[in-house]
Amino acid sequence: MTSLNLEILICPNCEASLKSLDYCDNCKLEFSQDEGTPKLFPFSRHRTVQYEFNSDYSTIKEDILKMYVNDPPMADTKEKIPFHLDLAHAYVINQMPQQQKILEVGCGGGQMRSWVETKGHQYIGVDISKAIVFKWLQQFGGPDILCDTHFLPFKNQQFNLVYSVAVTEHLANPFLAVQEIYRVLKPGGYYLGNISFLEPMHDNSYFHLSILGVIELLIQAGFEIKYVWPERGYSGYHAIFDMGSQFTKTIKFIGQGV
Ligand SMILES: [Zn+2]
Repeated sequence: MTSLNLEILICPNCEASLKSLDYCDNCKLEFSQDEGTPKLFPFSRHRTVQYEFNSDYSTIKEDILKMYVNDPPMADTKEKIPFHLDLAHAYVINQMPQQQKILEVGCGGGQMRSWVETKGHQYIGVDISKAIVFKWLQQFGGPDILCDTHFLPFKNQQFNLVYSVAVTEHLANPFLAVQEIYRVLKPGGYYLGNISFLEPMHDNSYFHLSILGVIELLIQAGFEIKYVWPERGYSGYHAIFDMGSQFTKTIKFIGQGV
């Protein structure tokens, strides 16, 4: 595990700079640990999601869609890359100069860590829990910090790259979470990720997005979109077959105003 630099951390509760991983000397919130990994969660925090909705967001123009949905360049396939890492994401990381600060949100077992560090980068992995990960992935050292993506305990503009795969569909407020990721990225930094589309509900997932949904999510958080593309090889049919116990065409509901 990386030795954490306190300089980059804020209290997830009051946003004051953190001087200790045990407590916040501003709001006095104490933080526990899970087998040595600090748990930096807010105690009771309310947040308003800022979402400026412009009238030209209401429909997407065909030419803009064509501009965004493109196949990206891929890394050399002979290289052995970590479980879950897309070759196009590997390509972006391979192009970066050394000594970059990389944050993985939802790092699971931390299986990206050694690959990223071999490239000469600094890696910090966070996740909400150490338990929600396949057993065989737990051998990779796990997260540096346990936290909630809606309340990242980092100062603004700390990272050159944020990587987050198979995570966003599990977040109750993806709009807020992606804004948090934008906040902790340095200007010009990259956000690499994927989001479930035609996977059934799995591991308490909330929002599964189409290509247009992903575009909207990124644009509203302030990102310039470089590439958006559908995953190939592992189809929706395959996912339904593997994970289909909660598969249904639509979700119905009845709500009542109060
Ligand atoms: Zn605090």
